[in-house]
Amino acid sequence: MRPRLLFTATIALATMAAGAAVPAQAAKPAEPPKEPVAVGYGGAVSTVDETATAVGLDVLRRGGNAVDAAVAAAATLGVTEPFSAGVGGGGFFVYYDAKSRRVHTIDGREAAPASMTATSFTNPATGQPYAFDEARISGLSVGVPGTLLTWRDALARWGSRSLAQLLTPAARVAEKGFTVDETFASQIAANRNAFGQFSSTSALYLPGGQPPAVGSTFRNRDLADTYRLIAERGTDVFYRGEVGRDLAATVQHPPLSARPLGAWPYPIRPAGMTTADLAGYRTRFPAPTRSEYRGLEVYGMSTPSSGGVAVGEALNILERYDLRSMSVAQAMHHYLEASALAFADRNRYVGDHTPSGVLRELLRDGYAKERACLIDAAAALPKPVAPGVPDGAYGGCSAAPAADTRDDRKSTTNLTVADRWGNVVEYTLTIEATGGNGMVVPGRGFLLNNELTDFNFAPTQGSAPDPNLPAPGKRPRSSMAPTIVLADGRPFLAVGTPGGATIITTVLQMLVNRIDLGMSLPQALAAPRASQRNGASTQAEPAFITAYADDLPPGHVLASTAELGAATGIELLRNGRMVAAAEPVRRGGGAAAVVGRWPQH
Ligand code: GLU
Repeated sequence: MRPRLLFTATIALATMAAGAAVPAQAAKPAEPPKEPVAVGYGGAVSTVDETATAVGLDVLRRGGNAVDAAVAAAATLGVTEPFSAGVGGGGFFVYYDAKSRRVHTIDGREAAPASMTATSFTNPATGQPYAFDEARISGLSVGVPGTLLTWRDALARWGSRSLAQLLTPAARVAEKGFTVDETFASQIAANRNAFGQFSSTSALYLPGGQPPAVGSTFRNRDLADTYRLIAERGTDVFYRGEVGRDLAATVQHPPLSARPLGAWPYPIRPAGMTTADLAGYRTRFPAPTRSEYRGLEVYGMSTPSSGGVAVGEALNILERYDLRSMSVAQAMHHYLEASALAFADRNRYVGDHTPSGVLRELLRDGYAKERACLIDAAAALPKPVAPGVPDGAYGGCSAAPAADTRDDRKSTTNLTVADRWGNVVEYTLTIEATGGNGMVVPGRGFLLNNELTDFNFAPTQGSAPDPNLPAPGKRPRSSMAPTIVLADGRPFLAVGTPGGATIITTVLQMLVNRIDLGMSLPQALAAPRASQRNGASTQAEPAFITAYADDLPPGHVLASTAELGAATGIELLRNGRMVAAAEPVRRGGGAAAVVGRWPQH
């Protein structure tokens, strides 16, 4: 969006120079563009949003570390990207600690309340699973949020500033306001009928019945007050106090508007989340997934995310091929096939309660060898491919069916931070669908998540057990894949993206682009994407279709999709230099920044 604005401004100037009349709307000068790439030293930040990036950079400049900056930037995203992330949601935090030279993770995934059962998403009147939107815009979809405790626990372990300090800039942005851009306004417009059902949400995001105008200043005083209350009284005010009471009340009694804006086709159901569910929530600190890829160590997020294990398995499969010696179309063929195979296994085996032995087997080289032998260089496999058998005895190839390609939404947000001490944070956070469950907690200024719709509503694996059915306290399977890659034991690369289940394929493709196909990090992020998740067709951006469709082997069915993901990443170069990269175009473009520019000017 911004590059286009800039282009228009340039044209306008050229026209003026030629003596044409000044267009009436040209009075306001174009804002400086977001920069998707920054090269420098002393620390780097990349997010989808320039305000969040600026807040994170300021923390680094004042001597804060990567964890401090990540929390401040994430809190700001809760203000400026409220339809993707916030204290009403959850996420996964991956951290390389320079002192101990270890990678740690925090699982801040939302948890099902105690009242949830395996049939919570089955309509008792029909015996059928609810439609996605019927489940989403309800109390049933809301998981106990984990974002605020992720921030608290990350700071307690590795931070150097208090949560109160780091919430302050975000509270200021919420109070003073920020400029509404196209993405913000269009995300409200796309949710108008859902948001319009709730008095609290309409009052905040549909003033006068419409989204706020692009270019206007948007304020969220309730959220500023919520952040300040947390800053003063700590996270207990949320998990054991009045904010939590309001949250549970919203789930139990959705704040329906007396005069809804627009029609909603489904009844809006309450659910049974209680203050005890909130008080019982804990973050977890699982060991990261680890796989080796061409001499590099790739660390990712373990369950309840399937991100680390699926990316790791696909890389292990791809490692058996010399992608560099192939045409790019052949390399993309192998990437798509490896994704499909990894997805078959993820769908069959991965959920919150997957035994660690199964996860270990899925990441073994012997298992990858067995899976890789299914790939045919001359033709795409018929989809869905069957899951393998990760039983420790590997050799030939296996068979039996399973597909689950439901999830291709693109909400959520991702950020990457590196500091001058060599610490790196890769953090993906979300409220699930863009706009979450549509309910702003009255008086508190934040939206609730619909993360529990990431559970399977009904069994998907035929006679085999489904690892991702709802249960009390269980966390729904995620695809979030914040990833940190080490070379010689030091951080080399950190990447992540939103995009629902396409997160896994986008992270995988960015790694292949950078590690195998000779692209720079900014090129690896910008390159056209495709996503094969063991479905009959492969979602592909138009530019991918133009570039590769004719040269892929037969059997691939490409379905055009406008865009996949909205990634961020940082690459650590020699001599302390860093490249921070964000999307140049997708989702309006992201913002990368470094503490000290290289070369200095
Ligand atoms: N809920 C999704 C997941 O955890 C993320 C949603 C998205 O990125 O759009 O995988």
